Amino acid sequence: MNAEIIAVGSELLLGQIVNSNARFLSEQLAEIGVNVYFHTVVGDNPDRLKTAIEVAESRAQLIIFTGGLGPTKDDLTKETIAKHINTTLEKDEDALTYIKDYFKRAQREMTPNNEKQALVLQGSEVLKNEQGMAPGMFLVKSPCHYMLLPGPPSEMIPMFKKYGRPAIEKALGRQETIASRVLRFFGIGEAELETELMDLIEAQSNPTVAPLASDGEVTLRLTAKDASKETAEKMIEKVEDEILKRVRPYFYGYDDTTLMEETSKALKENELTIACAESLTGGLFQSQLTSISGAGSILKGGIVCYSPEVKKQILDVSKNTIAIHGTVSEPCAKELAENVREKFDSDIGISFTGAAGPGPHEGKDEGTIWIGIARKDQKTKTFLLNLAGTRNGNRARTVKYGCHFLLKELKSGDE
Ligand code: ATP
Ligand code: MG
Repeated sequence: MNAEIIAVGSELLLGQIVNSNARFLSEQLAEIGVNVYFHTVVGDNPDRLKTAIEVAESRAQLIIFTGGLGPTKDDLTKETIAKHINTTLEKDEDALTYIKDYFKRAQREMTPNNEKQALVLQGSEVLKNEQGMAPGMFLVKSPCHYMLLPGPPSEMIPMFKKYGRPAIEKALGRQETIASRVLRFFGIGEAELETELMDLIEAQSNPTVAPLASDGEVTLRLTAKDASKETAEKMIEKVEDEILKRVRPYFYGYDDTTLMEETSKALKENELTIACAESLTGGLFQSQLTSISGAGSILKGGIVCYSPEVKKQILDVSKNTIAIHGTVSEPCAKELAENVREKFDSDIGISFTGAAGPGPHEGKDEGTIWIGIARKDQKTKTFLLNLAGTRNGNRARTVKYGCHFLLKELKSGDE
């Protein structure tokens, strides 16, 4: 089955929002083996939407629409489709009750145009909207399968995952099930990872091993098909074992996790607290750490020690260190990490100092960065990075390296 995604909304064409719905749906469809050959974007205009539908019908068997299911005048997706495929819209009592309740709960007056949201294509399977009001629909009618989803991602994503995707899988009438898992790596380039795993990537068609690189990270999506879900899962585990045998030092987690999430988890599990001296990163590390719940039990605090004076006066970096080695130096990173740890009385102290760019800083090339990790009664570790990105790319990458080294540090303690 080939699919086409039609995103409806003039705001997409005006550049006010990005078509993230298509990105999400494509990813989901790839997971269940449905090929997406075209993404279409069309404004809130019935004639042009009709043309887009005709074109899609000529080249796809499944058309997924997002947007234009709301109560307002410019929301005309289902009306246009109904007319085009000669179907009527009928009131769905469940949806109407849900919408009325929704207004009651919000203690708001329901305007008549909101009833329009309870209209669905006759004969369609109604996809519940548990985050909003407009229900989705799935209709099989010659010549195509049509799925209608709301525009807001906060409604569309849960609806698709819970109801839309299973409906498509059922329509595919597949005997086989699909299991998939994403392995996440950091500190290794895509080319290098691919070289390590070339035989696996090339030889395997079931499971498939698909690499993808972004933001300095590489992911591998493993997908297996089998009649039994259990067997599919086992097949994935087997390849995963083989992969990790070769590149485990770079592996940090599964699926949607992040380096910071794993770091936070590892600190919690080890019951360790941390304090931060952030020069180059200006608080970015702590900002990310505090975005994850439970930070209170691990983060003691930190200092944005941007100027040499603050490094000296607040964090007691010695005059000599700065005079002789400069602030972008191993001794400075070491002292920052040790002193912030002591001042905040934490188990771990981490420091970031470097030349973010553009251009050199204190005679050090841009992208020269030192990270220090200090622990109570242990020798302080320092790490040198030579990054080649933009200023903010380098800062973001530095935070990821900080997590990467912390994770290594905490894991080596486990073994
Ligand atoms: P509503 O009931 O909110 O009106 P709707 O189904 O009618 O929902 P639209 O009016 O088309 O959807 O879009 C509502 C909002 O959803 C948009 O302003 C935008 O923020 C978001 N949105 C719509 N389409 C997309 C898309 N393709 N990708 C990402 N976001 C989108
Ligand atoms: Mg709308």
